[in-house]
Amino acid sequence: MSKRDYYEILSVSKNASAEEIKKAYRKVAMQYHPDRNPGDKAAEEKFKESAEAYEVLSDTEKRAQYDRYGHAGLNGRGSGGFGGSNMNMDDIFSQFGDIFGDDVFGSFFGGGRRSSTTSRAKGARGSNLRVKIKLDYEEIAKGVTKNIKVKKYVSCSTCNGNGAKDKSSIQTCGTCGGSGQVRRVTNTFLGQMQTVTTCPTCNGEGTTITAKCPVCKGDGRTYGEETVSIDIPAGVQEGMQLSVGGRGNAGERGGPSGDLIVLVEEEQHPELHRDGLNVGFELFISFPDAAFGTQLEVPTIDGKAKIKIPAGTQSGKIFRLKGKGFPGVNSYEKGDQLIHVNVWTPQHLTPEEKTMLEALSASQNFLPKPDKNERSFFDKVRELFS
Ligand SMILES: [Zn+2]
Ligand SMILES: [Zn+2]
Repeated sequence: MSKRDYYEILSVSKNASAEEIKKAYRKVAMQYHPDRNPGDKAAEEKFKESAEAYEVLSDTEKRAQYDRYGHAGLNGRGSGGFGGSNMNMDDIFSQFGDIFGDDVFGSFFGGGRRSSTTSRAKGARGSNLRVKIKLDYEEIAKGVTKNIKVKKYVSCSTCNGNGAKDKSSIQTCGTCGGSGQVRRVTNTFLGQMQTVTTCPTCNGEGTTITAKCPVCKGDGRTYGEETVSIDIPAGVQEGMQLSVGGRGNAGERGGPSGDLIVLVEEEQHPELHRDGLNVGFELFISFPDAAFGTQLEVPTIDGKAKIKIPAGTQSGKIFRLKGKGFPGVNSYEKGDQLIHVNVWTPQHLTPEEKTMLEALSASQNFLPKPDKNERSFFDKVRELFS
């Protein structure tokens, strides 16, 4: 199923401000909120869809990526490894606490969903991590899975991330009784509302720790290393960013992990150069080969290819190997390889060679007589872009 445009989902324009996006999300989320549409699967999907759109558009970095590359910049093609579309309801409610939790909106729907269906808020979310990944042309053309070692905060294995010395040193918070929330009644434009706010004693965690884990000192995470497997879709380009959800720094005390942001770098090829989806190759042939015609092999991004140079080939001729370029990252398009012929003019000549050439220089067939087939450079350029 093709994904809908995030701006369309929230009914906002491409240049909507952060505030407009937040407002629009509230509106859509209120309309499709599960508490208002119990058992309505379609509404739940719409609700999730809007949460996903908001997750991306409310994040400056993700939004820029989405604006530039569309869903592909976040998801990759068919890899399933990127992006945040696999959010479940708990994720939505915990991630958007500012919208669903600590204000009137939350209590409007029966006192905040967090306390009823999800556990208490956990520790702070881990930060995003950025890594660069260098790919050669072949990897880019085919797509590749890279396993890279990332130095980062990982969940503490001694305390399983909860930050406590042992089970008995985790105690229910006395202020909120473990719910992580405290309620109070306020007057709002919707009438008198019961407002739910995060418990100030435990910061919404519902528990307090009496003795800290000696390894992580109560953080629930330690600095370490993890090998992360990254699926790179075919057709990526220099400067593209891919986001691997949840593989950034571990959160504090069991909080959600940040994302791993992968920046793509292209490794230069010794003979080929990339021009968008196309691949360029400068071919040098000798004058006799150009005059007699020949067969030769040229490098491509996928091994060698045999090509035929017809007799009488001019310098500047461009041969096209159809479909031998890069695939589009978000389409079934495929580029071509363009072979630019350069006929080599000798730069040093022995006296014998000079004599032979002088004998030929008077020959009628050696005088330039370009016809329509040897079109101008500009015609060729026009053809390339047609
Ligand atoms: Zn508390
Ligand atoms: Zn620990």
